[in-house]
Amino acid sequence: MSVLDAQHIDKKFGEVNVLKDVSLSIEKGEVLVLLGPSGSGKSTLLRTLNGLETIDSGQILFNGNALTLTEKSWQKVRPEIGMVFQSYDLFPNLTVLDNILLGPLKVQKRERDEVKEVANSLLKRIGLADKATSYPRELSGGQKQRVAIIRSLVMAPQVLLFDEVTASLDPEMVREVLMVIKDLASEGMTMLIVTHEMNFARQVADRIIFMDAGEIIIEAKAVSFFTSELHPRVTQFLSSLT
Ligand code: ADP
Ligand code: MG
Repeated sequence: MSVLDAQHIDKKFGEVNVLKDVSLSIEKGEVLVLLGPSGSGKSTLLRTLNGLETIDSGQILFNGNALTLTEKSWQKVRPEIGMVFQSYDLFPNLTVLDNILLGPLKVQKRERDEVKEVANSLLKRIGLADKATSYPRELSGGQKQRVAIIRSLVMAPQVLLFDEVTASLDPEMVREVLMVIKDLASEGMTMLIVTHEMNFARQVADRIIFMDAGEIIIEAKAVSFFTSELHPRVTQFLSSLT
């Protein structure tokens, strides 16, 4: 059963065709890694899957139900589709705990005590229990990104979308963030991950999608993607990373 299913998505910015007949589905419990050169449309695709970007044609289904593409219908499902960005976008004037509580209290209208309990257990699990009352400026980049992940997890999403979440981190902090994502994968979290960290992709992915110039040009089981002869475009992409 697909949690998210995008069918024949087209998207233009002005005259530029940024997504061309893109179809992908994410099965429950699956980790899908989306690769592709800069400008190939990865972020735009993720944003359409979260209703942050409108589409020109095609449709998006969530748990088999086609979403009418109004902002109102997106507001209902958006808490179910978590998204973590390269920039953590934490509120600087709120503590770590209050950053985490904001969505559940304001958007989901949940009870403060219940959410606080969940938030504290997530902070503990992700090694940030002692940072609950800190402000974002007091955290390292890796810690901020882990808070951003908790902020998504606390909403209990059915699927998480990660857009190059380690791209702006110092190398020593990349690992601590990838560890969190690996743990989520081993617990069966459904995820779509855009990353340029190839070793991580190899370890975590069930399936790989490779995009180029707005099109999906390869879709393969991770095992065969990394072992079979690479498409020339992939070879070129991989060599551009090093
Ligand atoms: P990627 O994440 O793979 O680097 P993007 O989805 O960010 O690619 O961008 C795909 C293409 O769409 C690029 O050519 C980019 O310049 C263009 N683009 C992205 N966002 C916008 C926007 N808001 N307005 C106009 N063009 C955009
Ligand atoms: Mg991008």
